[in-house]
Amino acid sequence: MRINFNVPPYTGCEFDYIKECVEAQKICGDGKYTALDNEWIEKKTGVSKALLTTSCTHATEMAAILAEIKEGDEVIMPSYTFVSTANAFVLRGAKVVFVDIRPDTMNIDEKLIEQAITPKTRAIVPVHYAGVGCEMDTIMDIAKRHNLIVIEDAAQGVMASYKGKALGSIGDFGNYSFHETKNYSMGEGGALLLRDETYVDNAIIIREKGTNRTLYKLGKVDKYSWIMPGSSFLPSDMNAAYLYAQLQKADEINNDRLDHYNRYMEALTPLKEKGLIELPFVPEECQHNAHMFYIKCKDFEERQGLIKYLTSNDILPASHYVPLHSSKAGLKYSEFRGEDRYTTKESERLLRLPMYYKLTNEDIDEVVMRVKEFYKFN
Ligand SMILES: *Cc1c(COP(=O)(O)O)cnc(C)c1O
Repeated sequence: MRINFNVPPYTGCEFDYIKECVEAQKICGDGKYTALDNEWIEKKTGVSKALLTTSCTHATEMAAILAEIKEGDEVIMPSYTFVSTANAFVLRGAKVVFVDIRPDTMNIDEKLIEQAITPKTRAIVPVHYAGVGCEMDTIMDIAKRHNLIVIEDAAQGVMASYKGKALGSIGDFGNYSFHETKNYSMGEGGALLLRDETYVDNAIIIREKGTNRTLYKLGKVDKYSWIMPGSSFLPSDMNAAYLYAQLQKADEINNDRLDHYNRYMEALTPLKEKGLIELPFVPEECQHNAHMFYIKCKDFEERQGLIKYLTSNDILPASHYVPLHSSKAGLKYSEFRGEDRYTTKESERLLRLPMYYKLTNEDIDEVVMRVKEFYKFN
């Protein structure tokens, strides 16, 4: 493909930092760069503690362990999300309860959450789709009144905010992804954000195989031992080094992506005004991070036609999630509570256009030109 859907971010210092780890013979977890990444996230978001993990998937699994989710519990989330959002809770024996999304943001419809709550409900998992915040004030208020834990899937939300608060820092837990398809990357990786001190000690232990090795390394205990069930959720410092090069240039990357987003938005608005496509919506209280730029076609058939047309012109677009409730595992481990008015319908007509750091204006203009051609718009 001449214009790819995604190109992993690279800023220039990545190799130097990785080389430094190799030469210092410090390549395991929790080295210098992991500490720098954690500190960067803590400063940027204001959380009590950020812990770099092997993935956002693992950060979500850690949150499910810390929240003591167990067999028979119910966890509310949208069906329009990545499998990891649901897996983390299903792995602990919980039942996933899906509610419909809002068609304007593709985020969970906050107005439908309360009616899905039962005495078994333990947590709500808002997913900030495209780095656009969910209606967090309403969600936090519901959680407070029903004594529920909130775990934000902010995989796509690094550098984005809701009412000035960083996504991932509002709920009890927040999860970031640094997968190569995300705005900031370490190949595979993520972070668990802990808003309050409450869970910090246990989180550190669970991430280090259920041991107090971290305290040992700090000289606070003379030998380390098994404290509680845990696993290995910490990444190699080489991966952390790759990420740090990008976090240092986070503003530059963010602004570059926002420029692309705005260029698409401006160029495609005439098609929207003619009623040919729909464009993303960002609520006033949200500052997004241009994680993606999507359009909505009339329906599934039209979208498939557009995918074919762009692909035949050397441009790679991407559809997105197939709603989880209709998947094989979804049928077994989940329930869609209430009506599926928008989840399936909107997911079938959404199409993501190429978006990455250092995408050129010429390439954006070419994508736009081909979309216009497809719609016979001139
Ligand atoms: C990317 C993504 C994940 C998974 O992230 P990994 O780091 O690959 O585990 C989870 N949830 C959402 C919404 C995502 O976009």
